[in-house]
Amino acid sequence: MKYDIAIVGAGVVGASIAYNLIPYDVSVLLLDKNNDVAMGATRANSAIIHAGYDPKPGTLMARLNVEGNRLCEKLCADLSVPFKRCGSFVLAFSDAERNTLQDLFDRGVKNGVPDLRILDAEELREMEPGIGEEAVAALYAPSAGIVNPWELCLAQAEVFVRNGGEFIGNAEVTDIQKTGDIYTIQTGAGAFEAENVILACGIQADAVHEFIEKPDFQIVPTRGEYFLLDKCEGSKAAHVIFQCPSEKGKGVLVAPTVHGNLICGPTSEVLQGDIEDTATTAEKLAEIKQKAALSVGNISWRDNVRNFS
Ligand SMILES: Cc1cc2nc3c(=O)[nH]c(=O)nc-3n(C[C@H](O)[C@H](O)[C@H](O)COP(=O)(O)OP(=O)(O)OC[C@H]3O[C@@H](n4cnc5c(N)ncnc54)[C@H](O)[C@@H]3O)c2cc1C
Repeated sequence: MKYDIAIVGAGVVGASIAYNLIPYDVSVLLLDKNNDVAMGATRANSAIIHAGYDPKPGTLMARLNVEGNRLCEKLCADLSVPFKRCGSFVLAFSDAERNTLQDLFDRGVKNGVPDLRILDAEELREMEPGIGEEAVAALYAPSAGIVNPWELCLAQAEVFVRNGGEFIGNAEVTDIQKTGDIYTIQTGAGAFEAENVILACGIQADAVHEFIEKPDFQIVPTRGEYFLLDKCEGSKAAHVIFQCPSEKGKGVLVAPTVHGNLICGPTSEVLQGDIEDTATTAEKLAEIKQKAALSVGNISWRDNVRNFS
């Protein structure tokens, strides 16, 4: 069978595209190299629906972040996926970091993030009593939220399949050739033909793109390790608590999860060689403990449920 559209990769991006194609009169094939959906970065991230003060103003990412945040509540309600608009803080621990908060605030206003405020230490502690003693101010973004990212992916894929879409797992794409207007996609589950191919294969997107032509982008595969703590620790944070971002990303956060646990992490480590290595390391986990303790002082690490990356 020849499909109108083949999507390579059934993470949250591929599944969202498949879900959004349901109303159109097109045949759609969703392929993944794993035996299920949501087996990549989608199942192992911080689960934050960011407010949108971080992306550079004027970029597509800035516009889509703020618009996506706004749409997320209804999307999750439609799909019965847990979502909570709990709000987020970015903490400042020094005067220099207060300036960073002001920069993030200005950027957020330009991006259209609603209701941003800079809080002094007193107001911050009223809203989040367990906050680390050294925090002197915070950027408050009430529109930030938390979600269950793998359920968001799974629900969209399920509705797509129930509406006639096709998902094929164990179908690693190993080559793509174009003859005339048709792409032939070679996979571990056989060959498929499609008029259009959408690549949504996460950290493999550049490698798969190479089958057709050289990509004009480069993926920098970056591993982040986490602690997931028991529900008895879940009340230690009512908001997503970030520290000031650095050139390595958004830094270590402490946040509640939609299931009532506490999540701490991630680290940020560029991987060479096996870019899908999801090991955790004693060194990086120690780094999380040390950094998270600045944000929330009394985390009981012995109540760890598991580590992942
Ligand atoms: C540490 C960390 C924390 C993050 N925290 C957040 C956060 O809090 N909020 C947020 O919005 N974003 C966060 N992100 C980013 C977010 O996780 C990703 O943007 C998102 O998961 C990407 O989804 P995806 O579908 O593109 O990729 P993936 O979920 O990785 O899915 C790609 C899919 O492609 C498949 N695939 C790969 N190669 C092939 C092939 N050759 N053939 C067939 N299938 C293939 C894989 O099996 C996989 O299922 C974080 C990322 C990291 C690393």
